[in-house]
Amino acid sequence: MKIETLAVHAGHCIDPATGSVAPPIYLSTTFERQADGSYPLGYNYIRDNNPNREALEKGLSELEGGVAAAAFSSGSAATMGVFQALSPGNHVIAPLDAYSGTAALLREVFMPWGLAVTFVDMTNPTEVEQAIQSNTRLIWVETPSNPMLKITDIGKISNIAHQADAHCVCDNTWATPIGQSPLKSGADLVVHSTTKYLGGHSDVLGGIAITKVEDDFFNRIRKIQTTGGAVASPFDCWLVFRGIQTLPYRMRAHSENALKVATFLSEHPKVEAVHYPGLKQHPGHEIATSQMQLFGGMLSFQVKGGREMAFAVVAKVKLFTRATSLGGVESLIEHRASIEGAGTKTPDNLLRVSVGLEHADDLIEDLAQALN
Ligand SMILES: *Cc1c(COP(=O)(O)O)cnc(C)c1O
Repeated sequence: MKIETLAVHAGHCIDPATGSVAPPIYLSTTFERQADGSYPLGYNYIRDNNPNREALEKGLSELEGGVAAAAFSSGSAATMGVFQALSPGNHVIAPLDAYSGTAALLREVFMPWGLAVTFVDMTNPTEVEQAIQSNTRLIWVETPSNPMLKITDIGKISNIAHQADAHCVCDNTWATPIGQSPLKSGADLVVHSTTKYLGGHSDVLGGIAITKVEDDFFNRIRKIQTTGGAVASPFDCWLVFRGIQTLPYRMRAHSENALKVATFLSEHPKVEAVHYPGLKQHPGHEIATSQMQLFGGMLSFQVKGGREMAFAVVAKVKLFTRATSLGGVESLIEHRASIEGAGTKTPDNLLRVSVGLEHADDLIEDLAQALN
């Protein structure tokens, strides 16, 4: 089945009780037990399971080509669930330019808890190989990366992980299952912040971990999800589940717009550099072409004139909203270094853009006047 069809139908069914086409939202915290003690319908208590959560997990794992998924209350909670499934003393290899919240979790929560972590340039497989230790159990990949849009070869890094008996986990938030299939490229587990493109309308917080096989590692993540309870609410699951139905068409439009905006910026005299994997001059373009179906809606660019000029540009935009986050229908722009705070390696003249679903001509016109 093609991805557009899967997006509309995976996990969906006509409600048997009423015939409703759109799924009902099940708010009940508890479910009736039979006289013999059993739960024939499979639901007992909301933290353990809920029909809306189950539908989202089923639908999204089909879309990613996985076999099971665990939905969490945020992308960061899903990330935590994955690291918590390891044991103190284990070693993790993570990218130097991971999402800043993931780096903060590793440095401030999991290193004190006992994980050993090496941060490397994940785009360089030799550096990753050299970082392997006898206790390496997980390699974290994020591609395209945030905010430099660096491209990591998922197949190569997965091979390195498997030779070391470690799991390769890919944060696929930016590419989405429409743009890239990490499980098919070799990764064992995919993590999403469903807050972004999957929800798609900047109105829901959520996360999910999707696995290629139901192994002990995934069962531990499931245990952490249901016993810890950092789960997505029924309504939040419902919103993400609805968002997914239009995801293939949205991603195509996001990607088309982003390529047009990136091309415009790359030819602008006041722009020093543009980072977008869809541009031929991007250092990761070749790998991106081989593992991505779409280059996505995220890009960043560096202006001439440093931090001052970067702030001047974001002060002048009219159509773009100055805000963090990404993946919604509206275009956003942000000065990334100041949101990441002290110690960031992000260049001070860099602006990150989430290209929305407005017409590309209007977006380009707005950036043109802001750069003038
Ligand atoms: C936003 C984001 C996260 C964190 O997700 P939340 O839902 O905000 O907790 C993780 N990874 C990437 C790449 C993100 O963009």
